[in-house]
Amino acid sequence: MKKEDCIFCKIANGEIPSSTIYEDEDFRVILDLNPASKGHALILPKEHLKDVCELNADIAAKILPLAAKIGTAMKKALGCAGFNLVQNNGEAAGQTVFHFHLHIIPRYEGGPSIVSWTPGSESPGKLETTAAGIRAAL
Ligand code: 5GP
Ligand code: ZN
Repeated sequence: MKKEDCIFCKIANGEIPSSTIYEDEDFRVILDLNPASKGHALILPKEHLKDVCELNADIAAKILPLAAKIGTAMKKALGCAGFNLVQNNGEAAGQTVFHFHLHIIPRYEGGPSIVSWTPGSESPGKLETTAAGIRAAL
């Protein structure tokens, strides 16, 4: 997708209005239009980067401290007990907007599960084969 057609480029750079929590020269942090819980936010880099594989080291290094800052403010402002950081890469992983974004999802005591999977099982031998395959690709 071209960045001229990218909705998150337009939002991050202020061409389309959004409920903005935070902005600096690199990022805009907005509320998700379809929140999984009250306060669900998205960190958007202003630069068009498709997914985590395209982040440069400078932007990447700034994202987690920013997420921690926003999550801490959510706990104070919203009274959430914790928060999940979720980040989808690729359609198969649930990515629907192909401009990198990190979800910050407040979690409230007794609230529904937001990120979950069914734990599987695997033999030590198969785990090692899988690990060796990934190691070889690094
Ligand atoms: P993904 O599935 O790609 O990880 O997440 C995309 C997120 O962007 C979804 O949670 C969706 O609700 C949110 N979203 C999509 N379009 C807009 C929009 O125009 N404005 C805002 N604030 N959020 C959006
Ligand atoms: Zn974009």
